[in-house]
Amino acid sequence: MVDKLGRIGVLTSGGDAPGMNAAVRAIVRTALDRGAEVYAIYEGYQGMVDGGDRIRKMGWDSVGGILQRGGTTIGSARCSAFRTRDGRVQAARNLLERGVDRLVVIGGDGSLTGATIFRQEWPELLAELVHRGDISQEVADQHPNLVVVGLVGSIDNDMYGTDMTIGADTALHRITEAVDAIQSTAASHQRTFVVEVMGRACGYLALMSALATGAGWVLIPENPPDVEDWEERMCDVLKAGRRAGRRDSIVIVAEGARDRAGNPISSDYVKRVLEERLGEGVRVTILGHVQRGGSPSAFDRNLSTLLGYAAVDEVLSATADSQPYLIGMRGNRIVRSPLMQCVEQTNAVADAIAAHNYEKAMELRGGSFREAFRTMRTLVRALPHPPEPGQKQLRLAVVHSGAPAPGMNTAVRAAVRLGIDKGHVMLGVRNGFKGLIDGDVEEMNWMSVNGWATMGGAELGINREIPSGSDLYAIARNIEEHRIQGLLIIGGWSGYEAAYRLYSERENFPTFNIPIICLPATINNNLPGSELSIGADTALNSIMEAVDKIKQSAVASRRCFVVEVMGRYCGYLALMSGLATGAERVYLHEEGVTLDDLRTDLDYMITGFKKGKRLALMIRNETVNPFYTTSFMCALFEEEGKHLFDVRQAILGHLQQGGNPTPFDRIQATQLAAKCIEFLIEQADQMAPGGAFIGQQGGRVEFHSLEDFRRMTEGQHQRPKEQWWMDLRPVARVLAQPAAHPGHEREVELGL
Ligand code: ADP
Repeated sequence: MVDKLGRIGVLTSGGDAPGMNAAVRAIVRTALDRGAEVYAIYEGYQGMVDGGDRIRKMGWDSVGGILQRGGTTIGSARCSAFRTRDGRVQAARNLLERGVDRLVVIGGDGSLTGATIFRQEWPELLAELVHRGDISQEVADQHPNLVVVGLVGSIDNDMYGTDMTIGADTALHRITEAVDAIQSTAASHQRTFVVEVMGRACGYLALMSALATGAGWVLIPENPPDVEDWEERMCDVLKAGRRAGRRDSIVIVAEGARDRAGNPISSDYVKRVLEERLGEGVRVTILGHVQRGGSPSAFDRNLSTLLGYAAVDEVLSATADSQPYLIGMRGNRIVRSPLMQCVEQTNAVADAIAAHNYEKAMELRGGSFREAFRTMRTLVRALPHPPEPGQKQLRLAVVHSGAPAPGMNTAVRAAVRLGIDKGHVMLGVRNGFKGLIDGDVEEMNWMSVNGWATMGGAELGINREIPSGSDLYAIARNIEEHRIQGLLIIGGWSGYEAAYRLYSERENFPTFNIPIICLPATINNNLPGSELSIGADTALNSIMEAVDKIKQSAVASRRCFVVEVMGRYCGYLALMSGLATGAERVYLHEEGVTLDDLRTDLDYMITGFKKGKRLALMIRNETVNPFYTTSFMCALFEEEGKHLFDVRQAILGHLQQGGNPTPFDRIQATQLAAKCIEFLIEQADQMAPGGAFIGQQGGRVEFHSLEDFRRMTEGQHQRPKEQWWMDLRPVARVLAQPAAHPGHEREVELGL
């Protein structure tokens, strides 16, 4: 079976990126699951050229305990020998020595270009080896082709063929943590900071971190400032910010920032300009390699895991004439694209920048990048544009509903500023729908949301109240009194229910005939029309960090942890945190749990612990079963496990709703809020203004009418009928439990 499948080699090459380990782990374990042999090639192409013990056969446990580690445990290197034909001949010989003719390469565009060249040359390299007498013709005939699959490991997010590259989200985490920290000291001293981030030809990290931190100005390679004296413009904006009450000023500069003429704009230059023109001390922080380091974020672990899993199926199913593919992710789905086309398109951006064709560079970067840039431009302005003469000025209200979700404040900030910038009056409703019932509504201004981009919680106040009966009269009265002409509800299930109720009561209450839009914000990720709601990414990272610590606490003992996570009836947090932490078992309400299931899990643990296993990790959604509670499961495992292992429970509780939002939640909150404001303004002119909920679906922002709310959801369990992430369950199963696949003889599993 093994020979029929071929043998797989995996390497990490070029700059290291957090998440590479998760990819290697997924590749090794999926390959073993499929019955293939898999070899790790240590130190990138250098290991391939050197051979010997740099190419090692991997077992299930060889990749235990690496999921949470930054960098790449199999090493990476830049290798000049592989750039030469002679080096590649050596590399081919070393692969053939082990029968490897299928490669998964994890690296940047350089590494993937190298792999493509290697693949093209393969038949000639083999002919040369035969000619030299290094291999027999028979061996060459057995491996006529090299199959290549690429995954992009690069913190810059600079590659075509995938929305995100492995490591980019973690790098954004590092940058936002650093900028948040700098912001507090900058604010204390009313100081200006220049922060330089990585990205020679790609402004992704700079732009997104500026959006996520509410920075005052950003400079990126793709879109240099379009005015002659951009220095003056930057200083004007920062000065206006100070006058308006802003205490800190932060300028984010991408490594490769430049002016229109192509002259580099260094962080030092920006510092000098600011010092001269603002007349104050300016500090520069170059983040450097901090951005590459540290434990990968939940997104990077899961992205890498899913890509690795898919890469194995691709590399094993490829035929002689199939071209090399890049496995990437678009709109939460795994996609494959021709590898060389992706590399070419990526190079085209760098070429456009080099040729000062910035319009083309921005065009090639894609729609969401351009939109993020536009939103950023508006948000950095210290003060709004004055309304156009004769423009209709709307009064738009923002209200929360549900439980707090990190990112809510970010969304309010963006909505308020973008609304005001378009010339409208923005109203904040205090304490959820209760505030709308009580008339607790106040006008907000540009500075009332200052600093909200980074804050967890919900400054406007929140509760779960869903208005009914006489509440509706009170709301109608307050809508009239405050002349509210559009309503933005930022919240979870109760917000959607409330919106649906107002929308359905339009015949009885004509004042409800205003545009209404719901922005999905709940850690549960249980809302229709939205694949990822605001707050879920932060909660996922909080759970993952807690579980990482829990795992570490059990180093020496034989212990089973049952960790209970939130999510109400939606298993998203349980499944995704299970994937991100390498849990062996995830209990979801969607699947339920029976006594037989628990018995099987117990047998699995007993077998594992008997063979020397040290740790078992089970993650349980809070509502999976009302009788088989977390305590019950722990008691059962403890009693039946006898003296073999002990059991601890960890109910994570409200830490999951807290914390400052992750960069993803901040960016998503900002971009959705921008769309919501556009919707309210556009619909306010309509005879029958729409009521809708918004969300990301398949990588696009979509609107659904509130009329679809019931149709798209399972009301009893407060979740969407279709949940995209349910398709990921097999991945979690394959990667965590060797024993779940009887028939495959494997070594004892010692780590996760
Ligand atoms: P990245 O993969 O992060 O873009 P590099 O461009 O440094 O990083 O490439 C990593 C390694 O890939 C190089 O050190 C070299 O061994 C190999 N490589 C890159 N480009 C080529 C090429 N054109 N031909 C052969 N090997 C290459």
